[in-house]
Amino acid sequence: MSDSLFSSEQIYLDANATTPVLPCIAQVVSHTMQICFGNPSSPHITGIQAKHLLEQTRENARTVIGAKEGNILFTSGATEGIQTAVVSTLINAKTHKINNPVLLYGATEHKAVPNTLKHWNDVLGINAKILAIPVDSEGILDLTFIAEHIPNALMICTMAVNNETGVYQDLDAIEQTIRFLNPDVSWMVDCVQALGKKQLNLSATTIDYAPFSGHKLYAPKGIGFLYIRAGSAYTPFIAGGGQESGMRSGTENLPGIAGLNKLFSLLLDRSDTTFKPIDVLNSYRTQIKCAIEDTFGEVTFNHSFEHSVPTTLNFAVNELTSKEVIDLFDAAGIRVSGGSACSTGSSTSFVLDAMGVNQWQSENAIRLSFGPAATAEEIANACESIRALKAILQANCLIVSDSATPHQDVCALGLTQFRHQGACCWLYVSENKQAIIIDPIVELIPRLEKIANTQNLTIKAVLNTHAHQERHCGVTLLRSVLGSRCDDIEIDKLGWPIHAAYIDLNNQRLEKIATPGHSEDSVSYVLKNEDNHINYCFCGDLILPAGLGNTSLAGGSAKAMAHSILALAEQLDETSVICSGHDYLQCFAMNWEAEQQQTPLLNGLINGQMSIDEFVIKKQLDDQAKEKSRSQLCGYVTALPELSIQQLNFDSAKAMLTKNDAYLIDTREPYEHGANNVSQLFRTKEIKTLNIPLSRMANALMEGQLSKSGKYILLCRSGNRSKLAAANLTQLGYQTVYNLEGGLALSL
Ligand code: PLP
Repeated sequence: MSDSLFSSEQIYLDANATTPVLPCIAQVVSHTMQICFGNPSSPHITGIQAKHLLEQTRENARTVIGAKEGNILFTSGATEGIQTAVVSTLINAKTHKINNPVLLYGATEHKAVPNTLKHWNDVLGINAKILAIPVDSEGILDLTFIAEHIPNALMICTMAVNNETGVYQDLDAIEQTIRFLNPDVSWMVDCVQALGKKQLNLSATTIDYAPFSGHKLYAPKGIGFLYIRAGSAYTPFIAGGGQESGMRSGTENLPGIAGLNKLFSLLLDRSDTTFKPIDVLNSYRTQIKCAIEDTFGEVTFNHSFEHSVPTTLNFAVNELTSKEVIDLFDAAGIRVSGGSACSTGSSTSFVLDAMGVNQWQSENAIRLSFGPAATAEEIANACESIRALKAILQANCLIVSDSATPHQDVCALGLTQFRHQGACCWLYVSENKQAIIIDPIVELIPRLEKIANTQNLTIKAVLNTHAHQERHCGVTLLRSVLGSRCDDIEIDKLGWPIHAAYIDLNNQRLEKIATPGHSEDSVSYVLKNEDNHINYCFCGDLILPAGLGNTSLAGGSAKAMAHSILALAEQLDETSVICSGHDYLQCFAMNWEAEQQQTPLLNGLINGQMSIDEFVIKKQLDDQAKEKSRSQLCGYVTALPELSIQQLNFDSAKAMLTKNDAYLIDTREPYEHGANNVSQLFRTKEIKTLNIPLSRMANALMEGQLSKSGKYILLCRSGNRSKLAAANLTQLGYQTVYNLEGGLALSL
């Protein structure tokens, strides 16, 4: 029977993180929990049966990994196996006579390895130097480095197959280098990602320890095993009742072991077709590669296919962030991961960094992995689902259409906010496709270029609100990239057409107002409608959501800022939308009314409760306080009071929607919204579902897409983005706003 990684609702392509338990394995596990549940230490028949299963599994493990000799210990997983190997080695090394001892590990090793080395090196007071062995651009370990340091090494840890890239090492070459120079050094090889994908013959090697994990190959989580070469140092890591011949105490995880038993029997049965031969897996990878390239166009693979197991693909889509790609995949039910699922918190992948992959590619790496039991049908379905994304990518300007008549129902009309590390850039497109871009950020230029080209925009102006001191100027670069889309006119340093009093934008006017304060050259651009009402005020770092720009940088002046604010206040009205250069508090949309409510200093000045001199003193104090925390260089914002957002679960949201008085707002980006039908999920009418991503909140505010008396249920994938949007709307005075708790993830 073919057991599926893929259910009808999802296409799971993250097998290197974990795999589902195959149904035939789950059956055996369940049987062992309910029927053959004995304790292998019990002397009665139930115990004897359990013991038999345990020992039979151990024997099968030996055959699978080619370990006629040595010990096989059942563990909770690979991390425990790694602890056991490291602790055994380091306790044995306490009496070593090596000067300046080192512990070596591959730079691309799973974090469990270096962290375990560091931990036990400290705890046991070994005081060895821990050194990462560099890898080349293909991810292959540097044998010269190993040769240089191995004479002083107490331990060397390498891996058979890498979990992020699938790159495998030449274990024979490593062994020759190690043993020629240090026959006795302890050598651990992490074999977690090799099982079922690479032939192993451990007894024919001098590997001392090899940890394995069940959940990476269709067995349950919480079971693994460790191979220990005969004669290698060993100290029990868990002492107690003496199970596993005293080497690892604690009642054995028999259901997990039974799962391994079934897994091994599948691997060993030559007539069984569950696990696919290498050439079949290679053809699967080629199919997926083609599907990715046909869908996304320019893709860069981060590893060579010659030196990696065929079940892994690690790539970056040129000019799309991994967040965009993963969000799109996830919305379409395709589960992939960015970099390593086990290492969170870092924006780049340390594995790819070690291989010298450029920063952008490392930051935006996608890992797609399938298990060796995948079927041809599952791979074909996965490819079909990937290819189906092409239309969504084109419709959302994420890729340039290669069709003569592109289908583009989603476009950038109105105002869109783009963000990069707290900085905001704004694109406004009028009905007749004339556009202005304010405060372009260099990193976002490829994206803006794509939108301009796919939407066939005429760019009336690319403007900076001031010469940004913290980043490169994007105006000149973007203008040169956009070429003839921009008017060929003489412009000033900030991009404004010299001599122009205003820029005409399809019956609207963009005007420039000098608003010094954050810097001497600061200006604000106001977009006025036919009635001379300011719809949008692009004020750079003069005014920030719930704060004001910093005046302590070169050219800054609190006094000039006060005058600028007062001058602007004369022209703005409460509904004018304030579009700032930074949004440190993740407010997304702000109008002049809310801005005054949330910024006491601004409010005091405008409403005459504070003189300009008082404003200056207070502002300077704020800026001094800001100096101490350098994280928000361009402005001083006051934390907003924590709002209690009303949460709804899926059932109550559905019930509220059927009553016909509530609207569903999908706060995900349009490409995610386009990938699955949320109206269908909630059984609500299409017209009662709006797609207002965070990037378009300001637009929705001005366009009057929402009414303050309306009832809204906000959703996204996990409930995080929609919570931000709900807080934003609540700050703006929308009263009946709910967040779908846990998002779509808990609703599917
Ligand atoms: N080593 C490698 C290469 C892995 O991929 C993993 C899991 O991601 C581990 C070790 C840790 O395995 P376990 O989850 O069984 O502790």
